[in-house]
Amino acid sequence: NMQVIFKDYIDGFPKTSDMELTSDATIRLELPKNEGGVVLTKNLYLSCDPYMRTCMQRPIDGWFIDAFTPGSPIIGHGVAKVLDSSHPDFKKGDLVWGLINWEEYSLIKDTSSLMKIQHTDVPLSYYTGILGMPGMTAYVGFYDICSPKKGETMFVSAASGAVGQLVGQLAKLYGCYVVGSAGSKEKVDLLKNKFGFDEAFNYKEEKDLVSALKSYFPNGFDIYFENVGGKMLDAVLCNMNRHGRIAACGMVSQYNKLDKPESPLKLIMLIPKRIKMEGFIAFDYYHSYPKFLEMILPLIHEGKITYVEDTVEGLENAPTALIGLYSGLNVGKQVVAIARA
Ligand code: NDP
Repeated sequence: NMQVIFKDYIDGFPKTSDMELTSDATIRLELPKNEGGVVLTKNLYLSCDPYMRTCMQRPIDGWFIDAFTPGSPIIGHGVAKVLDSSHPDFKKGDLVWGLINWEEYSLIKDTSSLMKIQHTDVPLSYYTGILGMPGMTAYVGFYDICSPKKGETMFVSAASGAVGQLVGQLAKLYGCYVVGSAGSKEKVDLLKNKFGFDEAFNYKEEKDLVSALKSYFPNGFDIYFENVGGKMLDAVLCNMNRHGRIAACGMVSQYNKLDKPESPLKLIMLIPKRIKMEGFIAFDYYHSYPKFLEMILPLIHEGKITYVEDTVEGLENAPTALIGLYSGLNVGKQVVAIARA
C-alpha cells in the first residue's frame, strides 16, 4: 500500500521533501475481525485543497481542522470505491467521497465524513470539486453569506480556482455583474471566455490594486468573495460600497506565513462603509448538500455551468500538485487521479 507520509511540522512555503512516498506492507487489505463499522476502500481521486497547508503547521489554537500527524499519511478529501465493509451504511461496490488518507487503499474507521455517491452520470472526479467540498463552499458562500441581490456588483479573487470558478458562474446566473482576478493570462481568458465573468484581470500585472479595482468598478462594488487576503483585501476595502458584504472564505496568500499573517491595514473601512464580513466553513452546511445537488446537477447537464479541472496522474505526483496551489500552478480544480474505478 503506497502512502504519502507527512514528515514534520513546517513554517514557510511547503516543499515536496516535507512529504515522503513510502510503502506500508503492514496494512492488511481486509476488515478487522473483531471490529464493526469499518470500510475498506480503493482510493481513486485525491483533492488538493489550499487549507491543507494549515495542517502542516504546529496545531493552531482555535483552527477548524486538526494538524497532520508527523509520520502519518497526509489526510485530504477524495473519492474512493468500497471494496469491503462491516458498516451498515456502506456496501461493497459503493462509491464515496470524504476524508481519506493519501494512500492507495484505506481502512476507514471514522466514517463520519463519508458521503455515498448517488449520481455517476458525471465525472467521478467532480466529487473532489464542484460536487464536493469546494462546490458546497461556493454554494453556501454565495447564497448564504454574500446575501446577494439581483443586479448587484461582485468581485471574486482566486476566481479561476476550485471555488472561484463556480462562485462566479452562480453569481452570473443569479443576475450579478461579476469581475474576477487570477494570476495568469490563461486564467483570465478562462474567466472571461469559459466561465462568463463580465471582466477579469491578472492581479500580478497590476502595480496598484486599488486603482485596478476602481477601473473595473468606477462606482464601487457590493460583494467580495474573499479567497486570498493580504493586499487584495486592503484594495477591496478601499473600493467597496456602503452596506457591502464580504464572504471570508479563505486567505491563501497568508497560509505560508501563519506565524505572522499580514493584517489588512484598511480594516477600519468596515466601519464607515457599514460592511458585513463573515467567515464560514463549508462543513457546517453539509445538511444542505442534497438541496445543492438538486440545483447543480441539472445546471451541469444542461451545460449552464461548466467546471475546469487540472488533473495529474499518480500518487507519487500528489505532493508536487499540492504545493503548486501556493504559486498558482493549478488551472482550475487540482485533482490527483490515482486509480480507475
Ligand atoms: P484554488 O483552486 O483557487 O487554488 C489556489 C489558488 O490560489 C491558486 O491557483 C492561486 O491562483 C491562488 N493563490 C495562491 N497563492 C496566492 C497568493 N499568495 N496570492 C493570491 N493568490 C494566490 O483553491 P480553492 O478554490 O480550492 O480555494 C480557494 C480559497 O477558498 C482558499 O483560500 C481556500 O482555503 C478557501 N476555501 C475555504 C473553504 C471554507 O469552508 N471556508 C472550503 C474550501 C476552500 P492565482 O493563479 O489566481 O494566483
